[in-house]
Amino acid sequence: MPPILEVEHLRTTFAQSGRTLTVVEDVSFSVEAGETLGIVGESGCGKSVTSLSIMRLLGKNAKLDGSVRFAGTDVLRLSEKEMQSIRGNRIAMIFQEPMTALNPLHPIGRQIAEPLRRHLGLSRREGAMRAVHLLKEVGIPRAEEIAAEYPHQLSGGMRQRVMIAMAMACQPQLLIADEPTTALDVTIQAQILELMKKLRREHGTAILLITHDLGVVAEMCHRVVVMYAGQIVEEADVRRLFADPRHPYTIGLLASMPSISGGQERLQAIPGAVPQLHEMPAGCRFAPRCPKAMAICREQVPELFPVSATQKCRCWLYREGGEA
Ligand code: SF4
Ligand code: MG
Repeated sequence: MPPILEVEHLRTTFAQSGRTLTVVEDVSFSVEAGETLGIVGESGCGKSVTSLSIMRLLGKNAKLDGSVRFAGTDVLRLSEKEMQSIRGNRIAMIFQEPMTALNPLHPIGRQIAEPLRRHLGLSRREGAMRAVHLLKEVGIPRAEEIAAEYPHQLSGGMRQRVMIAMAMACQPQLLIADEPTTALDVTIQAQILELMKKLRREHGTAILLITHDLGVVAEMCHRVVVMYAGQIVEEADVRRLFADPRHPYTIGLLASMPSISGGQERLQAIPGAVPQLHEMPAGCRFAPRCPKAMAICREQVPELFPVSATQKCRCWLYREGGEA
């Protein structure tokens, strides 16, 4: 079976006060049915813009190039109307802060029923019943009562469950989750991740999981792409990424992860800062911060070189398929 999502050479630019800012540059990856692909990187690396590009949820000043094939169709070529029939139906999305996606004026149950009525043509009564069923499925106690409540009456963790119930209502083939647990405390975070795993297991949903949290990646993902300054710098299956990271940025990122044992080691931060969008370095974008930078790094943009069958690395050290 072909992958459910195939992103090829995606480039997202914004026209802003007379200049063009490139936020996502030549991003390619795919996600198979039932698979979870993680996109990791620090804030501002382009991971959220990548997901919003896939959903076509960016403003009019955004321009998208390349292709985003969902179930074989390039969604970048669809009309807004055609896109609306996919969004919230075959592709669903959950965000860090559910309050931004929930309508404060409508009861929870009605909001969950809304996409069911719109996309699947359910009646009001059928929608209401299905909403209660979905609330139970995401582990919400007293589902009938909660369905009649408003978003502000629920805790953050409960609201995120509601978001997941809403996202899963139409049994999407792809769920895009952008920092779904970042605002939650650790216990609730673990419950939400378990819930996403359950949905993946029971419905075969593919998940594109965007996070800066490597703990969440280790827990959830099969494969990972690491983004830096708008580009993918490394792609690997999750075991490889943690056991044998190759890109100097990935190595720095993993080194800055607090140890799970909770030891006293100091966090090892990567010196320097992510380059500004309008002043990207000419060659490798990580060169100004890279401890291994060579002359070529400052002049030519490295490709994503294959390191092994399951790992690629955008770094001149790997140009011959192995470390120079
Ligand atoms: Fe470092 Fe050069 Fe590799 Fe960039 S291409 S990560 S500067 S070694
Ligand atoms: Mg973000």
